[in-house]
Amino acid sequence: MKKKVRKVLVVNSGSSSLKYQLFDMETETRLAKGLVERIGCGGPKDHAEALAKVVAELGDAAKGIDAIGHRILHGGEVFKDSALMNKANMAKARKLVKFGPLHMPANLGGIDACAKIFKGVPNVGVFDTAFHIATMPDCAAMYAIDPKYYKKMGIRKYGFHGTSHKFVTQAAAAFLKKPVSKVNLVTCHLGNGSSLAAIRNGGVVDTTMGLTPLAGLVMGTRCGDIDAAAVLSIMEAEKRTPAEMDTILNKKSGLLALAGSSDCRDVCAKAAKGDRGAELALEMLAYRVALYIGAYNTVVGGADAIVMTGGIGENSSEVRERIIGRLGALGVKLDAKANKVRGETKVISAKGSKIPVVVLPTNEELMIARDTVKVLAD
Ligand code: ADP
Repeated sequence: MKKKVRKVLVVNSGSSSLKYQLFDMETETRLAKGLVERIGCGGPKDHAEALAKVVAELGDAAKGIDAIGHRILHGGEVFKDSALMNKANMAKARKLVKFGPLHMPANLGGIDACAKIFKGVPNVGVFDTAFHIATMPDCAAMYAIDPKYYKKMGIRKYGFHGTSHKFVTQAAAAFLKKPVSKVNLVTCHLGNGSSLAAIRNGGVVDTTMGLTPLAGLVMGTRCGDIDAAAVLSIMEAEKRTPAEMDTILNKKSGLLALAGSSDCRDVCAKAAKGDRGAELALEMLAYRVALYIGAYNTVVGGADAIVMTGGIGENSSEVRERIIGRLGALGVKLDAKANKVRGETKVISAKGSKIPVVVLPTNEELMIARDTVKVLAD
């Protein structure tokens, strides 16, 4: 008989930091959480050293860990679900480093470190792309360029934040008292990075991010959708290299470029004081979210609910109001009083709203822990 998986460590091993949470999965309670920073730049020299620090921090709590779940940025088309990271799957994952040259080595380095330090404890990989890849149809996933680029290089839409979209899909289905396999949703993960997903019968049929997390919405420092020819024009005029252009579009655009701060709270405060750049930035952000909600409501064949999550979605009544104010054509109406909610599950649409809007706090770490238990039970 298989050993029951109860104590699960969740590891998010990034390029310069390692975040962790420890769960008791019998009760789904968090026992500990923490962060090791500045890996390779003044702090621990590598992920193994960072993990040794975690073990020291956990003390007795590090004993008896049954399994470890890891957040992994990219599963390509190989990983359509979370998977046990045995030798064969690690080899497959290493081939996907090209899709995330910064994050993938750190994610996989975390697994290698755990395999050494927690000998015999199984490691499960939970991929940010998997929930999208599993069910997204080609008509949504493919780009209208020569198919040789897909065949040779895997250029297609993958989508990200899959773990968050999956968590709120399951939570929304429970909230609506519907089986997950019958629920249609538009899930909005609005944070520093933001994406929407169109959920039909519990699975993703489209999402706003693409080959990389750059596509789609206006984000903290990313521009989201842009005419590719505009990018070429800037590169040509300013003689920018691809790496420089990547930095401009990913790190120096979005709210930061439009309003001088990537933090939505700052932008809201500036707009309230009459700053026109900040006002326009919030309107652009809200406009694009509303645009995609309209499109995705069509794509899912009529949503049972619109879900708001992520730092902005869970906390910013102002941004939610700006978005929902643009959904009149869908018959969506806001309940201004309910919309004051922060960080808890609540319906924020008015009684007569054709589609309910629900604020639902995401919990990616718990989703990773749940998947870890599930993979090891299968
Ligand atoms: P990440 O994508 O890095 O996980 P989060 O999901 O935590 O980020 O979201 C961070 C964003 O949420 C920031 O832009 C922050 O300003 C915004 N945010 C958090 N609380 C509020 C609030 N009360 N009002 C407006 N924005 C908020």
